[in-house]
Amino acid sequence: MRWGLIGASNIAANHMIGAIRGAGGDIRSVLSSSPQRAKTYAAEHGIAHGYDDLATMLAADDLDAVYISTTNEKHLAQALAAIAAGKHVLCEKPLAMCVADAVAMVQAADAAGVVFGTNHHLRNAGSHLAIRAAVQSGRIGEVLSMRVFHAVYLPPFLHGWRLDNPAAGGGVIADIAVHDADTVRFHLGEDPVSVVAIDAESGLGQGVEDSCMSVWSMPSGAMVMAHESFTHAHAETGLEVHGTKGSIIARNVMTQRPVGQITLRTQAGEEAITFSDHNLYARAMDHFHAAILGQGRPSADGVDGVKSLAVAAAVAQAAKTGQRSVVDYGGI
Ligand code: NDP
Repeated sequence: MRWGLIGASNIAANHMIGAIRGAGGDIRSVLSSSPQRAKTYAAEHGIAHGYDDLATMLAADDLDAVYISTTNEKHLAQALAAIAAGKHVLCEKPLAMCVADAVAMVQAADAAGVVFGTNHHLRNAGSHLAIRAAVQSGRIGEVLSMRVFHAVYLPPFLHGWRLDNPAAGGGVIADIAVHDADTVRFHLGEDPVSVVAIDAESGLGQGVEDSCMSVWSMPSGAMVMAHESFTHAHAETGLEVHGTKGSIIARNVMTQRPVGQITLRTQAGEEAITFSDHNLYARAMDHFHAAILGQGRPSADGVDGVKSLAVAAAVAQAAKTGQRSVVDYGGI
């Protein structure tokens, strides 16, 4: 499988180049807006070609697929160009700046018959697969509520557009709430209906929110509470799912690494739930390659990306207006 990287990004360097190669992918080229950076990045990562023009890159190297990890405002045009060139697309979250654009990307991929995936890594974690299995097999009974703790300190090497550039898709809602939306949908198997939210600039954000708390209503009647932040240096991530027969308490699982602890608490007492420690991004790539070969689907597909963005958009709207916001899934 021949891959092109659209975006000379940190996430590609730190996680996805290894994951693509680990899944047997051959990375032929990388695109940057800067010719010099394209060249340097290509050399640093052992990639044959660096381009600063997408059309040229897509016309060369017989690529099968592209991985898009530019800043968020660029995803739409780049995905549409790659799809028009017949390439399979794995795109970073959030898919786009608004739900309608994300829907357009997914519909274009469907019409072209190419595979489209969203890089929601968390649902690939052994911890999250184990939590989902416990919830879906009824070990905690009917779900009453879920709480997601995803307040972290944004690592200094990522201080940049996320903290000061709304036009590039900055802010903690676009960055982290989308992951939480995908995680909640993955565990509960249903889509949030409406949300209320408050956001804040709590020390790092300049013109964009760096913290948010929200409450979501679910079709089953379950309630969800989510907390995202870039400014919490000493908090622990995690989630809790509470049901009529038990609770799942997971600590340190909202992370890129295969770590954490999960406890199941029922009338019978407490039990540790064990899980696989495989690499999250490697599993996502294995599923994406299999999907290209006609064997299954990406672990998070385009519709999952539209839905996570729709929830985040509703959270942003609710925080802005102070009103309850109904989630608009764009008809998908
Ligand atoms: P980066 O800031 O590292 O990269 C985004 C763009 O910024 C790059 O495409 C590059 O532009 C430019 N850039 C990066 N580093 C430098 C540099 N040192 N000097 C000059 N320009 C630079 O973003 P991230 O990797 O953090 O995020 C990219 C995308 O991936 C976003 O959509 C984000 O939401 C998503 N993401 C997803 C994660 C996940 O786990 N699923 C985790 C982290 C991010 P150019 O290509 O033009 O050179």
